[in-house]
Amino acid sequence: KSIVIAIDGHSSTGKSTVAKKLASELGYKYVDTGAMYRAVTLFAMRNNWIVDGEVDDSKLIDHLPEIKINFEYNPKAGSNDVLLNGENVEKEIRTMEVSGNVSSVAKIDEVREKLVQIQKELGEEKGIVMDGRDIGSVVFPEAELKIFMTASANIRAQRRYNELKEKGEDINFEEVLKNVQHRDDIDSNRKNSPLIQSEDAIKIDNSNLSQEEQFAKILNLAKE
Ligand code: C5P
Repeated sequence: KSIVIAIDGHSSTGKSTVAKKLASELGYKYVDTGAMYRAVTLFAMRNNWIVDGEVDDSKLIDHLPEIKINFEYNPKAGSNDVLLNGENVEKEIRTMEVSGNVSSVAKIDEVREKLVQIQKELGEEKGIVMDGRDIGSVVFPEAELKIFMTASANIRAQRRYNELKEKGEDINFEEVLKNVQHRDDIDSNRKNSPLIQSEDAIKIDNSNLSQEEQFAKILNLAKE
């Protein structure tokens, strides 16, 4: 029987890696909701509605109806790329600049309403793994399996730093650590659907778990 699997947790805990692998193992659809918030952020940045981390909320809210978010299968990556008004922006949304602004965009009520609506529609057909911050609490409170992933901020920053370095980004560790802490802070303290562990979510601290151990653990839970 096909189920809904919600994977929430802190930034850079490896949610998307696990979620992607799980979806492919189970033959499920995978949706990266962080990519959707990142695409909206990119739209605002391109229009110069974000200056020094300050978002012009009302401008963005006024123009929200112009934003169309879709996904497109990328056979090379074995997962879905996000499209912003038809343009593949998968690469552009992963920069430090977007990471620095995304939490400020994600705390706007109207942005969340719009994206949650799309996410609910994507989940109408069961057999889905969705990762984010509020999937088990707001998007699919009735999800059959909820995972809450976390790890120490230092370990998460180190993992992200290695990833960005590999992609050839010119960054330093301190900058990445600050970004991880900044997002934790805004995501956990916003008024609208803050990042919290649902009561019925299973917490996995992967500070000292290998990817294989973690994956085996979650796959077992999904098969139960
Ligand atoms: O998952 P990822 O780190 O790419 O998400 C980027 C940001 O988008 C998060 O730091 C958070 O501010 C926001 N987000 C959210 N709700 C989600 C997914 C992401 O607020 N469901």
